[in-house]
Amino acid sequence: MEAFHKTPRQSLQPGHGAKPDFRPCFENEQAMNGSEPMGVAAGVIIVGAGQAGLSAAMELRKRGFADPITLIGDEAHPPYQRPPLSKSYLSGETPRDRLWLKPDAFYQSADITLQLGRRVVALDRAGSSVVLDDGGRLQFDHLILAAGGSARRPPLPGADQPSIPVLRTMEDADQLAARLQGAESLIILGAGYIGLEVAASARKRGLSVTVLEASERPLARTASTVLSSWFGGLHRGRGVDLRVNTPAVRIIVEKSASGVELADGEIVTADRVMLATGLKPNTELAEAAGLACDDGVLVDAQARTEDERIFAVGDLSRLPLKRYGRRVRLESVQNAIDQARVAAAAICGAPVEYDPVPWFWSDQYEIKLQIAGLTHGATQIVRRGDPEMGRFALFHLAEDGRLLACEAIDSAPEYMAAQRMIAKGVKPDAERLRDPAVAMRDFLS
Ligand code: FAD
Repeated sequence: MEAFHKTPRQSLQPGHGAKPDFRPCFENEQAMNGSEPMGVAAGVIIVGAGQAGLSAAMELRKRGFADPITLIGDEAHPPYQRPPLSKSYLSGETPRDRLWLKPDAFYQSADITLQLGRRVVALDRAGSSVVLDDGGRLQFDHLILAAGGSARRPPLPGADQPSIPVLRTMEDADQLAARLQGAESLIILGAGYIGLEVAASARKRGLSVTVLEASERPLARTASTVLSSWFGGLHRGRGVDLRVNTPAVRIIVEKSASGVELADGEIVTADRVMLATGLKPNTELAEAAGLACDDGVLVDAQARTEDERIFAVGDLSRLPLKRYGRRVRLESVQNAIDQARVAAAAICGAPVEYDPVPWFWSDQYEIKLQIAGLTHGATQIVRRGDPEMGRFALFHLAEDGRLLACEAIDSAPEYMAAQRMIAKGVKPDAERLRDPAVAMRDFLS
């Protein structure tokens, strides 16, 4: 794998022996003459070599798709797992070579052309082609947009300085880890999952940590108020100075110190400041090509955009969830994998309706949170287990008694049963659900 990190522009093409092929991707007569290089391709072009892009490519091959598949990524690395970046990779427990989603030999054996360190800069729908950053053009029969998102930098003075780290890529994680070396204190802007996971990793490294959150609770966008409050207690109990209702107005970086100015004029200082202020979906290509977008590329239940040859999957897409009667953009490994498979199925002429029970996990300290479903629309929360003991599940029920979601802290059986209960539309009896003596499997029979 190491070879991947040395050459930023690489074409790992099948059929050229066991080793990656480092020839320029458009090494043809036109390119050498200096005129616009013209690639071959057709088949499926996938923009974005992340979890979703790779999953789509794999599913196409699994279904017997025999035409070319070209997976284009602007990072220098083959597809890798992002979740450890804020967890075990940042804390040094997981080495880099454990992050790759597939070994490099896989791409050749699966006949997937992987073009790394290349950026797609335009989508030409009329010409059924994409334009790359060197002016090269690749034709497609079908296109899958899997370009994910970029870490959002808030519009604050100082927040755009490159020395203020964000966390989305492996390079971001390396930069953050390097900046934490020798530091004694860290301020994190944002108490979402990434902010809190970094807080836990930094505490493990012995740093003193302050988390500044503008809204009234941590995890405000994604967790119930009960769970938010529990996580607030967890972090404060581990020594994190977690402040809510605390909007920052300016980031200060000087040679010897960093700090954040708060709305009330207070300046909080630390050795380092980092941003964990959310994700902006990479919709630029789609927008410029006239595809409908609304904080994500709008797709149907087959991951198809309004252009029937073009699909959008993963963090980038906003999809309808029939089960919850709403459109959502899901930032999760589950959705990146499953929605990509749905797009591949449609391309192979075997469309399936995507109506998942979304799931997500987060590791903070030694605690594992698992969430199944979405809490929106719930009117009742049933608690099972004891928050004081650090082991409990929150079941979110709709007005008609249907289970909509489960937030589980170190409660794998509850979480796993809940996934199936939500999928089956089970209406559990609240009193029995609350009682840990009643086996979870009883709700499924
Ligand atoms: P990405 O993984 O972002 O891949 C998109 C790729 O496309 C990127 O490499 C990008 O650089 C590339 N690209 C963008 N534009 C172009 C272009 N024009 N041309 C070529 N390439 C382009 N999810 C969980 O379920 N559980 C977790 O615990 C969890 N933890 C996380 C921790 C961190 C630090 C991060 C960052 C994410 C975490 N996630 C977690 C979310 C999960 O990793 C994402 O939902 C998933 O990676 C999305 O996959 P994707 O393929 O849609 O996007």
